[in-house]
Amino acid sequence: MGAAIPFASKRKAVECMSAADVKYWTLSHYPARSGQEQRFAFRCPKHKDSWCGDLLIAGTTEIKRNGQNQDGGVAQWEWDGDRDNPTFQPSINCQGCWHGYIENGRCVSVNKTDEPEPIK
Ligand SMILES: [Zn+2]
Repeated sequence: MGAAIPFASKRKAVECMSAADVKYWTLSHYPARSGQEQRFAFRCPKHKDSWCGDLLIAGTTEIKRNGQNQDGGVAQWEWDGDRDNPTFQPSINCQGCWHGYIENGRCVSVNKTDEPEPIK
């Protein structure tokens, strides 16, 4: 790994283009401290300053998992446990909005190219 990044420049990185800026919540929608993460939301590349998601993190709840939201289950995402620069699998299909991946804290397209900064 590289040298530690000073807080000021780290903050700038979060604000630059296509940062997913992921927020974590508990199942009951309280802000999650480290170790409590059950849901996540991300800054949508298609809408400036709006968060999409409210998605379940796999393995953190008793809720049945089903990638197609069928058979009484719901889609859930594997999280690598990195709060600051998270990677989630599989891809996220924000219906009618955006479809892509969150990798290392960035929103990337399904073609694995960095998404441009949201315009509106
Ligand atoms: Zn969205």
